[in-house]
Amino acid sequence: MGRKSNCCGLSWFVNDGVGIGCAIFTYLLIAYAEFVVVFVMLLPEVVTSAAIGVFHAIAFTLLAGLALVAHSRAMCSDPGTIPLGNCTTENLKKLQLKEGEVVLRCTRCECIKLDRAHHCSTCQRCIRKMDHHCPWINNCVGEDNQKFFVLFTMYIFLISMYALVLTIRQILVCTENEWHDCTFLPVASAILLMIFLVFEGLLFGIFTLVMFCSQVSSIVKDETGIENLKKERVVKKTTVYENLQDVFGGYFSISWFSPFTSPPLRRANFTFHDV
Ligand SMILES: [Zn+2]
Ligand SMILES: [Zn+2]
Repeated sequence: MGRKSNCCGLSWFVNDGVGIGCAIFTYLLIAYAEFVVVFVMLLPEVVTSAAIGVFHAIAFTLLAGLALVAHSRAMCSDPGTIPLGNCTTENLKKLQLKEGEVVLRCTRCECIKLDRAHHCSTCQRCIRKMDHHCPWINNCVGEDNQKFFVLFTMYIFLISMYALVLTIRQILVCTENEWHDCTFLPVASAILLMIFLVFEGLLFGIFTLVMFCSQVSSIVKDETGIENLKKERVVKKTTVYENLQDVFGGYFSISWFSPFTSPPLRRANFTFHDV
């Protein structure tokens, strides 16, 4: 179940064994890619201060770091939960319902269900604009953390492609010169590690590209994954640019691509801060 926590700067954490396992596996995969790229492939160039080698090592590490930050923020941000226990007479009054108007109440967490919210059985909470529950980030993708999830898929795609390009470069350089001068590791081990890296890059590169495209498409159309599956019609009153601004925050700028910048917290309709 997802829990609010004020410990260690975490605002939210879902206590799900499968999700925690997947998140740790994700960190191990990123660490493996960083190890092979920097220590197996680029280190001989870095120690001789070859500018191009140093540049690739820094650029790859920066992108991998951004992927890690995006992942951590997607995992530890409240995805847009509806407060428990908000179904009180006082709150119902606040809604100023007209006669005949119906308010939905979640049968499982018993909160007042806002429009476009869905109950997640893993988080055991209702989530505003829930897209899906993703075990890789051990969290739901919802209104308040979608930006971090999109950035996570984007940076993983970028480092996957970068790792593939660097592996091809390594093969070209090493076959031209001596393989022994190309790495500090025994040649057979280095090649084996690079083969695994290619496999990892292809697999996760394709996976994250598909995920990134489907996320951008749903943001542009302002339709969540669940609404798309259920063929729920969403009344569209906004433009594509407004929809993108809504998720990434403000006018187009570099901060759209920064996992350090939080998107504006949208507490649309009513969320009962006083509950
Ligand atoms: Zn619920
Ligand atoms: Zn969830």
